[in-house]
Amino acid sequence: MTIGEKTTTNTYLNYINGSWTASSSGEVDKSTNPANAQEIVGYIQKSTAADLDRAVQAAKEAQVQWRKLSGAARGDYLFKTANILEARLNDIAETMTREMGKSLPEAKGETARGVAILRYYAGEGMRKVGDVIPSTDSEALMFTNRVPLGVVGIISPWNFPVAIPVWKIAPALIYGNAVVFKPAQETAVTAAKVIECFAEAGLPAGVLNMVTGAGSVIGQGIIDHKDIKGISFTGSDQVGKLVAQGAVARGAKYQLEMGGKNPVIVAEDADLDLAVEATVSGGLRSTGQKCTATSRVIVQSKIYDLFKEKLLAKVNEIKVGDGLNSDTWMGPCASENQLNTVLSYIEKGKQEGATLLAGGKRITGGGLENGFYVEPTVFENVNRNMVIAQEEIFGPVLALIKVDTIEEALEVANDTKYGLSASIFTQNIGNMLSFIREMDAGLVRINAESAGVELQAPFGGMKQSSSHSREQGQAAIEFYTSIKTVFVKA
Ligand code: NAP
Repeated sequence: MTIGEKTTTNTYLNYINGSWTASSSGEVDKSTNPANAQEIVGYIQKSTAADLDRAVQAAKEAQVQWRKLSGAARGDYLFKTANILEARLNDIAETMTREMGKSLPEAKGETARGVAILRYYAGEGMRKVGDVIPSTDSEALMFTNRVPLGVVGIISPWNFPVAIPVWKIAPALIYGNAVVFKPAQETAVTAAKVIECFAEAGLPAGVLNMVTGAGSVIGQGIIDHKDIKGISFTGSDQVGKLVAQGAVARGAKYQLEMGGKNPVIVAEDADLDLAVEATVSGGLRSTGQKCTATSRVIVQSKIYDLFKEKLLAKVNEIKVGDGLNSDTWMGPCASENQLNTVLSYIEKGKQEGATLLAGGKRITGGGLENGFYVEPTVFENVNRNMVIAQEEIFGPVLALIKVDTIEEALEVANDTKYGLSASIFTQNIGNMLSFIREMDAGLVRINAESAGVELQAPFGGMKQSSSHSREQGQAAIEFYTSIKTVFVKA
């Protein structure tokens, strides 16, 4: 493939001011396949603060004209990008599977989601952006308008390497901002392929820039850069705190989407087969590496044994393997680091006295020895204060917690620092209403898995899961614009 200066098939360059360019460091990082650590997916730039600065200056200059285009004209670029991404769906999905391990059907689903998000925000260019507000002066007209922030910095994680960048970049662009994007280095090849789609759509030079490199250099550089007026971050709470501190210190706008410790409550009147299906899918798909993944399963004592039996039967059927194989249900952890983190939480669970019901080990046989595979794992006898019931594991580990009443279930469900997503399985309207009222989570789901997200609805959490305005749907306008209140008297 040759785009601009990009001439090699497995070295991926930065995209700055409409050109594919190597980092001024002359250094690259390699991106490897977690299903087979010896396989190199591609080389990506190890960029410097000077590369970032060039991207920010290009964005600043390009934004002056970009903001003058009509929303519909900006939307046309997103429609074109959507069509290109759709045409390249299979290749990009396969790259995603090779780079971070999720199964190919999931990677295809995520890429298709990226296409739908682009089309959704392309349409946003034609929708209303303000309100008319009655003035006390009957001869005046008062209304709100929305103006772009300027240059927006986007920092994304590795677990959704297409959907998360797209759900940030698309609204940033449609509302008239220019973007400097730093993907997770783990999945920068997939990210580069997404940016190729924007480039092929003919986006004006400088409007969208991608700079790859270490979080401590490029991510921190985005946090500190005086010309970046807004920072949208998704990732861990540790890095989120750095974003918040840095942004507050220089008066930049910021938005954080961070971790979760998402509960599922299974009430004694639940459809148990549905609850089991949703717990397994919500907890273990994508190897549990979703911010909305189910990790605590809070079950009423009356049906606990039956639920456990059905759950274990389902978990024991899971086929683990390379995500590219058609019979694989669960792929590897995305990196060796991630595998080690998951294994250390499993050890912690055992030390604290939880009982292992399934899994618990790295998989080292059956042709999987070169990958970062862990068994789908289920603990019981977990109490709410244990580390495995409090901290985000970000791996395929379910903790079963037995409770007597729905009141107790809700109390346990709310007893973490997180509040991203939560589900209840019940057929009782009273239980549903209590859950809607009392569950402290940004996504509250009834008879549906915790990991479902619809692109047209606001997405984000409470407590330490998120900070500031929601992402996705029309809610995204809050972050990517400022309100201007206009008073007119002729
Ligand atoms: P992470 O380590 O926080 O990394 C996220 C991004 O921040 C990466 O691009 C990373 O760059 C960058 N970064 C690292 N250090 C930085 C620094 N000092 N300054 C600025 N940027 C820095 O998170 P992750 O491991 O990629 O992702 C997993 C986490 O994301 C989990 O906690 C998960 O819950 C959360 N997540 C949340 C949501 C949500 O919507 N709530 C969605 C998905 C994931 P590198 O490439 O160099 O690491």
